[in-house]
Amino acid sequence: MNHFDVVIIGSGLGGLLCGSILSREGYHVCVLEKNSRYGGCLQTFERDGSVFDTGIHYAGGLDKGKILHTFFNYLKLTERLKIRRLDEDGYDVVRYGGQEYKFAMGYRRFTDTLAQQFPYEKNALETYAGKMLEVSNTVNPCNVSENDAMPSKYLEYYHTSYDQFLNSTIADPVLKNVLVGLSPVYSGVRERTPLYIPMMIHSTNIDGAYRFIDGGSQLADLLVQDIRDCGGTVMTDMKVTHITIRNYQAGPVEVNGSERITGRFYISNIHPKSLFSLVEGRAFTGAFIRRINSTEETFGMFSLYLSSAGYGFKYINKNYYCYHTHDLWDLGNYSADTWPKGYMLHFSPVSEHAGRTNAIIINTYMKWDELKSWINSRSGKRGEGYETFKKKKAEKLLFLLEKDFPGLAGKVSSWYASTPLTYRDYTGTHEGSAYGILKDYRNPFKTLILPVTHIKNLLLTGQNINTHGVGGVTIGAFLTCSELLGREYLKKKVCNG
Ligand SMILES: Cc1cc2nc3c(=O)[nH]c(=O)nc-3n(C[C@H](O)[C@H](O)[C@H](O)COP(=O)(O)OP(=O)(O)OC[C@H]3O[C@@H](n4cnc5c(N)ncnc54)[C@H](O)[C@@H]3O)c2cc1C
Repeated sequence: MNHFDVVIIGSGLGGLLCGSILSREGYHVCVLEKNSRYGGCLQTFERDGSVFDTGIHYAGGLDKGKILHTFFNYLKLTERLKIRRLDEDGYDVVRYGGQEYKFAMGYRRFTDTLAQQFPYEKNALETYAGKMLEVSNTVNPCNVSENDAMPSKYLEYYHTSYDQFLNSTIADPVLKNVLVGLSPVYSGVRERTPLYIPMMIHSTNIDGAYRFIDGGSQLADLLVQDIRDCGGTVMTDMKVTHITIRNYQAGPVEVNGSERITGRFYISNIHPKSLFSLVEGRAFTGAFIRRINSTEETFGMFSLYLSSAGYGFKYINKNYYCYHTHDLWDLGNYSADTWPKGYMLHFSPVSEHAGRTNAIIINTYMKWDELKSWINSRSGKRGEGYETFKKKKAEKLLFLLEKDFPGLAGKVSSWYASTPLTYRDYTGTHEGSAYGILKDYRNPFKTLILPVTHIKNLLLTGQNINTHGVGGVTIGAFLTCSELLGREYLKKKVCNG
């Protein structure tokens, strides 16, 4: 049968969450995924016996009663996920200038921990923590009323520069740098980043940051199982190649150039710029297409996956943000000689051992321009030049790793590297950007993308709506599904337990 209530294009976190929510609420759902595996950035892969995450290294807001816990509770995920709470005294550690600075969980502990190194900035840190709490409370869908679809406060946070907020709140340049040190989790740019993004992400992590034991693909597996248990369908190797749009109504979609699948509603979980290539020229207004196509993308990542035979790595229950530059906004501003100016280091928890692991992941920015020679190539077929390019980059990172964590590189038995081209090919994200469209405080209406389109039965979801990450995409899925189920109805279901 090729007729469904809702057809979802893409099985990333956003697509699967919408599929699971709507299935639970009685909709007959079909999720179409172009790859042979579902999950998008939730996918893991195995090399030499080690399991590596591709796009989920940790997620915040999972302490009982906090934002992600509330949503996951509604989806009955909390009791089924295998997760490990990161070190509450320092889940994230920024290292630069020969010092370590810890980010602790809980607003009081966050302030007190940093105030030990910056006692004269205690009041400023309290103001910072207060702002995080204010932002997270304001944007939490459980606190937003139906009549306030776009709370004015939300727009205010979107319209304010994070850098300007830091400058007006904190005097010590070292503390400012330390706070900016977490910017690779949102691809921060001094001249662009709105207050909303770092505040939202920091606050969810402060509310309980967890890693996924044996990988984040378990989240995709559970959501797919739930959709199927409710009678829905999730199909892989099903690339949507065209969406018919007539009289502002979408449907059917064409799959792999031939098969047609019809829905009453359609939800696109793919990058909005990719969506345009699936429809006829005039389906969307010229203004909308120009607006979206003129947005910048967040940085893509060079990812280095390190394997150690026999669980040779000590498991460290923290994430490290290591810098070799004095201005921590500057990670993306590198030349061939100065790359990398820093990197993120994640240890993967494995169920076999509490104190050891066989998988470590390093991520750092990589500019799209560096990959120009291979833009027209496909994964696995880029040739020797590309392999040499990756090897040189990997060696540079391994050199820095050994400098920062003596003895660690010696435990590596094999490594594997990917570039933004890999992400482009697997998830279809533009220019291999890690987090989709770059949000810009100077022009919030340009980069703020709503789930509704002027095509009445076509909705959007995923990291370009609201924001990226497990928390951001989950709130985005709530906003998308609210369009079909009603905001107040879904809010009651999710927020009242
Ligand atoms: C390197 C990296 C590290 C990250 N680390 C973290 C982290 O630690 N914590 C965190 O919270 N977030 C992290 N993120 C961000 C997070 O992974 C993403 O924000 C989130 O997973 C994006 O989900 P999504 O639903 O928007 O789409 P995606 O995961 O991009 O999924 C889109 C899906 O659509 C499919 N698709 C595309 N075109 C078609 C088509 N024509 N037909 C059918 N299917 C199609 C794709 O194959 C893909 O499966 C990271 C991201 C990256 C890249």
